[in-house]
Amino acid sequence: MSALRCRGVAPEAQRAESFARLRAFLARDVLRYSPFYRARFAALGLGADDIASEADWAAKVPFTSKDELRDQAADFVLAPNYPGRRADPRTEEIDAASLARYAQDAARMAEEAGDIEPPTSLGERAYRAFLNDWQPILYTRTGGTTGNAAQSVYTLSDLHGPFKRCALFHHNMVGWSPEQRFMSLLPAGEHLGFYGNLLVPILNGQPLRAMMGGRTVSTENQVLVAAKVGTQALYGTSSYLVNWLETAVALQAEGKITGLPALQLLSASAEALSEGYAASIRTALRQLGAPHARLVQGMSSTELKSGGFRECDEGMGLHVDPQHYFIEIIDPDTKLPAKPGERGVLVWSHIDWHGTVILRYWSGDTIDGGTRFDECPGCGLTVPRLFPPFRRLLADFIKVKGARVDLAELRAAIETAFPRDSYQIEIRGDEHGKLSIRGHLLEGLDAERFRTIVFGAVELRLDSVDACTPEQMNHRLYGAGGWKPRWLINEQAP
Ligand SMILES: [Zn+2]
Repeated sequence: MSALRCRGVAPEAQRAESFARLRAFLARDVLRYSPFYRARFAALGLGADDIASEADWAAKVPFTSKDELRDQAADFVLAPNYPGRRADPRTEEIDAASLARYAQDAARMAEEAGDIEPPTSLGERAYRAFLNDWQPILYTRTGGTTGNAAQSVYTLSDLHGPFKRCALFHHNMVGWSPEQRFMSLLPAGEHLGFYGNLLVPILNGQPLRAMMGGRTVSTENQVLVAAKVGTQALYGTSSYLVNWLETAVALQAEGKITGLPALQLLSASAEALSEGYAASIRTALRQLGAPHARLVQGMSSTELKSGGFRECDEGMGLHVDPQHYFIEIIDPDTKLPAKPGERGVLVWSHIDWHGTVILRYWSGDTIDGGTRFDECPGCGLTVPRLFPPFRRLLADFIKVKGARVDLAELRAAIETAFPRDSYQIEIRGDEHGKLSIRGHLLEGLDAERFRTIVFGAVELRLDSVDACTPEQMNHRLYGAGGWKPRWLINEQAP
C-alpha cells in the first residue's frame, strides 16, 4: 500500500484518506479476524457497510475501555484461520489474496534459505509466511501491578510495517543525522519503553548503546560510557534523565569526565515532563557544556504500540502518523467530538496493524494544549499534532474521604519546595473504611513544611511524617521493580 501523504496535502484531504484506510481495515481485517470486535459489532447489529462516514463512525462505534482491553487482551489480537490448521470458530479463514501472496513469499523464502535448512515443502513455507504476517512474536505490558496490566502483541509484519514507519518519524527531528550516536536509558523489561527505544534506532540503522537501566549498568558507568563514545542523543524517562544528568554533573565535579559536550538531543518520555524536570535538565546541560542540546517530549503507551508520538522540535507538538492512527478528540462530558481546538480526551484507533488492534480507544488522556492538523512550522509535515500538557482523567485525580484530590497540583506544589525523589505519600484504608495518610520524607528535610504544603495544595492532612534514609526512600520509590518513582501509593478499599 502506498504511503499516506504528509507534505503538501490539505489537512481535510489527509484526514479523509486516513479515515478511508481505517474503514477499509475494518472491513478487510478487523471484522473478519478480531474475536472482540466481531462479537461487539454483531451484538450491535453493525456491519462495515453501516459506517460510511466519520460521523457514522463517531455515532455508531462504541469506545473501547481500558478495562475491556485488560480483561480480554487475547481477544483483541487479530487471528485469521489458515486452511487445514486448527481453526478458531470465532474468526474467519484468511482471504484468498493473502494466500496467493504467501505462496509467492514461499518461493522467495526457499531461495533465501539456500541449503541450510532441511528440505521443506513450499506449502510449509507458505504457512510460515502466514505466521510472519499474523503470529504474535513480541509481547509488551505495562509496569502496573499484576492483574491489571495492559498488554499488546506485535507480529513480524507489524515491526517491518507500521512500527518501522513510526520509527521514521524519529528522523524528523531537528539536528537528527544518520550517524548520530544514541543511548537508551530505559531499563530492560517487557515494556514498550524499553523495546521502543531499542527497536526504533535499530530499524533506522542508527548507532545505539542500550544501557538496560541503572540496575544492570550503574548510572555512573552509563555516564562514563556516554562521555567516552561521545553520545549525542539520550532517550529516557523524564525523572531518570534528571537523575542521570545530575550524576554526570557530579562526575564532572570529581574530574572523572569533562562534561558531555557532544549531546545534541534529549528525548523525555513515559511520564510527564514537568516544568521542574525540564528546568533541571536544562541547568545540567549548561553545566555539562551542551547548552544547545534540544529537549523534546514523546509519549506512547502499551496499547498504542507506536514507537512514540514525538515533537520534531521543542514546542511543536507531538506528531501523530495518520497512516496508522486515526485520532479523535472527544468532549469528556458529552462524549461527542470536541469542537476544533478545544480540550478533550484523546481517542484513537489503529489502522493496518496486526497483532493487538484497538478501535476508538478511550485513552483517558486529556490534551489540554489542544490539537492541530495544519502544517507544522518546524518540519513542514502536515500531520495531527498534540500539545501538552497531557493529563490523565483518572490517574491524575483520586478521591480521599469524598473530596477530589488533583494529583498533578499536589506533586507540583511539593516539587517547588522539596528535591525530586525525596518524598512519598501513602494512603491506605482498612476494611472498615478507616484511612491512614502517611508522609515519608528524606531525613533532614522539614516535615512541618511538608505537611503545610500538602494541606495548602489539596487540603490533605497527613497523619504522620516519617524520616527515611536515602536507601529506604529509594526502596520505597523504585523497590517494586518500577521505572517511575512511586511518589503516591493509594490503596483505599474500593
Ligand atoms: Zn514538526
